[in-house]
Amino acid sequence: MRYLVLSDIHSNWEALQAALDSAKGQYDRILCCGDLVGYGADPNPVLDWARENVHLVVRGNHDRACAGMENLEWFNPVARLATIWTQGELTQENSRWVRNLPKGPLAVEKFQLIHGSPLHEDEYLVGVSDASQAFPYLETPLVFFGHTHLQGGFMWCRQNVQAIGKPHPPRQSQMLLDLDPDCAYLVNPGSIGQPRDGDSRASYVLFDPSDGFLFYRRVSYDIETAQRKIRNAGLPELLAKRLAVGR
Ligand code: ZN
Repeated sequence: MRYLVLSDIHSNWEALQAALDSAKGQYDRILCCGDLVGYGADPNPVLDWARENVHLVVRGNHDRACAGMENLEWFNPVARLATIWTQGELTQENSRWVRNLPKGPLAVEKFQLIHGSPLHEDEYLVGVSDASQAFPYLETPLVFFGHTHLQGGFMWCRQNVQAIGKPHPPRQSQMLLDLDPDCAYLVNPGSIGQPRDGDSRASYVLFDPSDGFLFYRRVSYDIETAQRKIRNAGLPELLAKRLAVGR
């Protein structure tokens, strides 16, 4: 079974379509590490698509918030405005579906999906010190996570934790990670809808457990259309602007 692993789609239809097009024919099932909605202008199209096409998805903090399960005091003003806008947009069916999304970790074959960290679904794994604390809690040698919108992740080999790092030099669109069976991995496919690693292209992972090959991918998409929809919806300008810089 070959997997397309996505995370942090954040209601960005254009980025999602570009990723699906570029990965076409190269996977059998789609997995998602959460945050389908929040920030972007297309929550219902993304959810209608996810309900039909995603094999397994764990909930993210924005999914919980947009389904009315969170106190928004903890969100920054921009995220709060986007959440309230999304709550007003979601169809009843989609809102109910999001509310029932499972909390990670979710098991797939011999690996798992989580949103934030193995310790807590809302915790951010940003640096090596965060990852060093998380590795002892992994239940499988490979765990996919999201939440930070930073493509890459961490590996634990011979008692040493290191960042998988910026997975590719600028302009390159693919990097291979050959999984070593003696190491453990926390892999972040990166964000589809709002990358924050300085590369505005949508990011995702293709993974085939049968050969242990994992590909980090980047793909350009129609950022202008996604921005125009955000502006037309009356969402905060910052949400449109940041798509172009990938921050
Ligand atoms: Zn997110």
